[in-house]
Formats: sequence, structure tokens, C-alpha cells
Amino acid sequence: MPKLPLKGGCLCGSVRYEIAQPLVFAGYCHCTRCQRRTGTAAAASARIAPGSLRILSGQELIKAWRPADGFAKVFCSNCGGTLWSQSQHDPEVISVRMGTFDTDPGIRLSYRAYVAYAAPWEPIPEDGLPRFPEARKG
Ligand SMILES: [Zn+2]
Ligand SMILES: [Zn+2]
Repeated sequence: MPKLPLKGGCLCGSVRYEIAQPLVFAGYCHCTRCQRRTGTAAAASARIAPGSLRILSGQELIKAWRPADGFAKVFCSNCGGTLWSQSQHDPEVISVRMGTFDTDPGIRLSYRAYVAYAAPWEPIPEDGLPRFPEARKG
């Protein structure tokens, strides 16, 4: 088990956060937005327990892109570092970007979502993880 609270932050270090409870699940997203957002073929994120995220510094730098039809993409406006996604219907539903953790968060990625949109230039690894053409189910 990882030591709680988990800590992490953005690229420039201005935004710092902690998560007080164990992560719930984690997976890869191969959607087009994640490709655009990260510049990579897939993005790894972990769902947090509701209410377990606390911002320690840099609150004033936190900005979000809010598409009409999906989760808000939250980032640091100083460095552009991606932080988490957040449901626009229920702000308690948050998935933190795995790359922002300071240390091993304990959880491992357990699925691949939106593989229907996977980048043609990087084959999906044969890692045995369940694949979902669209959103993760179950
Ligand atoms: Zn930053
Ligand atoms: Zn995505």
C-alpha cells in the first residue's frame, strides 16, 4: 500500500495537491482529446475517492478547458501541465493524471478505453488489459 496522502503536482511545481484516500481505479484513454491534450497515443489517469483531493498551492493558476460534451480538462496555466479531469455534472468525480504523482501511487492501470480512436502510429500493447471501443463499462 502506498503511503497516504499521495502527493503530486504540475510541471513547474506551482500547483501541488494531496489525495487522502486510496485511488479507486486507473486506466488508459486512447481518445482523440487525450492525444491532442498530451501529444501522445494514450493517457493514464486514476479515479479518486470523492472528496479526497486537496489543493495545497497554486489554486489561482488552475484553469480548465470545458468541452460541451465531456469532462473538464484541468491544467496549470503557468506551465500547461495537465492535472486531472473533472465531471461537469458532478465535480466530485475526478480522475488525476498518473504522471503527476511524486511517488508510486500503488494502483496499476487495468483497462484501455476509447480504443476505437487509437493512434494509427502506435500499436496498442498486447498487455492483456480489457479494451473498450468507447467509454469503460463495468
Ligand atoms: Zn505548473
Ligand atoms: Zn481521453
